[in-house]
Amino acid sequence: AGEASDGMAAHVLVFPCPAQGHINCMLHFAAGLLDAGLHVTFLHTDHNRRRLGLAAVKAEADSPGLRFLSVTDGLPDDNPRTAGDLVALVESMMTTTRVAYRALLASLRAGAPRDDGFPPVTCVVADGILPFAIDVAEELGVPALAFRTASACSFLAYLFVPKLVELGEVPVPLGADLDAPVRGVPGMEGFLRRRDLPSFCRGHDGTGGLHPMLRIIAEFSAHSCNARALILNTTASLERSALAHIAPHMRDVFAIGPLHAMFQEPAAGGALWREDDGCTAWLDSQADGTVVYVSLGSLAVISVEEFTEFLSGLVSAGHPFLWVLRPDMVGASQNAVLQDAIRAAGKGKARVVEWAPQRDVLRHRAVGCFLTHAGWNSTLESVTEGVPTVCWPFFVDQQTNSRFMGAVWGTGLDMKDVCERAVVERMVREAMESVELRRSAQALAQQVRRDIAQGGSSAEEFKRLVGLINELSI
Ligand code: UDP
Repeated sequence: AGEASDGMAAHVLVFPCPAQGHINCMLHFAAGLLDAGLHVTFLHTDHNRRRLGLAAVKAEADSPGLRFLSVTDGLPDDNPRTAGDLVALVESMMTTTRVAYRALLASLRAGAPRDDGFPPVTCVVADGILPFAIDVAEELGVPALAFRTASACSFLAYLFVPKLVELGEVPVPLGADLDAPVRGVPGMEGFLRRRDLPSFCRGHDGTGGLHPMLRIIAEFSAHSCNARALILNTTASLERSALAHIAPHMRDVFAIGPLHAMFQEPAAGGALWREDDGCTAWLDSQADGTVVYVSLGSLAVISVEEFTEFLSGLVSAGHPFLWVLRPDMVGASQNAVLQDAIRAAGKGKARVVEWAPQRDVLRHRAVGCFLTHAGWNSTLESVTEGVPTVCWPFFVDQQTNSRFMGAVWGTGLDMKDVCERAVVERMVREAMESVELRRSAQALAQQVRRDIAQGGSSAEEFKRLVGLINELSI
């Protein structure tokens, strides 16, 4: 299946936006391409490549068709690269990275195989958040596809931002009633409230203008219409309606997820933090379904007050809990103190780590519910394992994803816009005890498993995509 028809293997350059959720998802995608017999060059930024260190070397050694290369992101080394500074990252990549990427791709595409035995790059699959990567590829004569790592429902909302602005729905004015329904996103009018729109749809500075991030993401979403196809890490069981409404705007759409459940990530993979494996042994010592797993992903930053509300609520709920507290989540200087605070308050029932092997944790029999920021990867990972959630969305698509868990799929409770200990306690208790939530979560997990099994919609779409890449690689 991996042979383009002139006998040369298709060779895909996969270029994710340099954030953990994007890297994880596109690494699984790369693993699927390798399984299909294609070559893959996975492009990191220099900064992340350094952070990954030996993990990338090991992954290459284990997968002969895979190689990692890197380009600059243009930012100084000490830039924190967390949620607060995403505009700087995107802008720097659009200028500095664009130049470096063009030079690299021109050399990779040029005729003779390089010393390492890789054939020329025949196709690019770039993150839809990096539209320049698609434009540059096509300028150089390399066909390019867009890959969006967020939910189809949020992508649809971004696609309809011009319509939402025309209708006066967006930007949502400061102080407006956030429970009011939103018109203008097809298929979601029955349940989408203002508070469920992607976060940057909300007014931000009182001037009535669009948030700069919303302007950028909406523009990037529209740009995907130009790509040869749009690839989404989702599946029909979860987002049939959104997919149907996106399709007429794209040249082609492939729903090929959840990728983490379909393909084994190459070797040690792409964790940007050091995983604390000890927490799995701790989980082994806990009874079935008794542990609350708490993680807000790789980018969210919270205040000390929010930290205190979460901690008090979790302690009052009375269940053992495993909490991922990234060093940069509240503030590096406070991390040791806050970790101690968790251990002291938990009185032997709490475990805190800087980074967990999350997919293993969610799969573990001891985990009873997941307090999550509803990032799309975390959403897919909890859905696949049938773990009920309590959602505290932080930003971007998380506001929309949590609405799906809370009101559409019935697999979670949506705590959005509230961070109070009493609410944390009540929702965690309910998520741990509700038979109905657990039943819905398990039923949805079964449907998704059918989608990814042989003959299922995602498995078939993945095959169709490999066919397209081979065709474009001739
Ligand atoms: N993750 C992990 N260990 C942690 C926390 C998160 O491996 O301690 C992984 C998680 O499994 C997911 C990714 O990091 O694949 C986070 O992506 P997501 O889309 O959920 O959120 P983001 O980080 O983009 O906000």
